[in-house]
Amino acid sequence: MSSNHEPLSVEDVERFGPDPLATISTNLAAVEERIARACARSGRDRGSVRLLPITKTVPAHILRYAFEAGIRSFGENKIQEAMAKRDALDDLAIEWTIVGHLQTNKVKYLTTFAREFHALDSLRLADLLNRRLEREGRFLDVYVQINTSGEDSKFGLEPHALLPFLDALEQFSRLRPKGLMTLALFSSEMARVRPCFALLRRLRDEASKYHLGIAGLSMGMTGDFEEAIGEGATIIRVGQAIFGKRPTPEGHYWPGLASAAQQ
Ligand SMILES: *Cc1c(COP(=O)(O)O)cnc(C)c1O
Repeated sequence: MSSNHEPLSVEDVERFGPDPLATISTNLAAVEERIARACARSGRDRGSVRLLPITKTVPAHILRYAFEAGIRSFGENKIQEAMAKRDALDDLAIEWTIVGHLQTNKVKYLTTFAREFHALDSLRLADLLNRRLEREGRFLDVYVQINTSGEDSKFGLEPHALLPFLDALEQFSRLRPKGLMTLALFSSEMARVRPCFALLRRLRDEASKYHLGIAGLSMGMTGDFEEAIGEGATIIRVGQAIFGKRPTPEGHYWPGLASAAQQ
């Protein structure tokens, strides 16, 4: 089975161990265990929570082991990185989700291969996505990103802007709004994190009265997914608990992190 894997570099072994398949499988089992316990605590069905593994910074050749470990949908934060991996792994049946802020000049790439987009936060973006999708003859599942922490640095709509935004989205027939997404406050104090998830849930409950498709809650990451499950998450986006700590500084993905960490 390992015959079609390229040799591991010193960096690969440092980060993923001498047997990446074993490392990823073990981590995945531990995450499954945590999900099962969180579901049990809040009286939820395991089947009501989808684990979306986040594969950013994990090299494509290591993702072949993730595929062997049974992972079929990969979430990436940056479009170029996602495309390079998609090309390197195009012999595997992988579903790609983009979870990070998208610049309008990257729309034309996303629409060629992504199945889901979790950071929709402007009508201009929705319009551009819709035009490209029309041309490609494709559809896209989208989650509307909400800024639930009130931090200036976070992308996402202000909570009060959600209902008019969803109304306006109805003109874009190629977009399938499935739910809401958020990044909670970056803090190890769950008492400050959990209200972000609770707010997203309330917004979803309200919005789903007028927009039946809005059922999903994409929230919770390695550090806080149990809390998110407790507040009703239907998709948790988990990277480091499966693939180990990332070598890149987190500020690379979240411009506001440096200031958030000092709070
Ligand atoms: C990286 C990332 C995650 C996962 O974070 P981990 O700490 O690796 O679990 C979730 N959501 C988004 C938008 C991300 O960029």
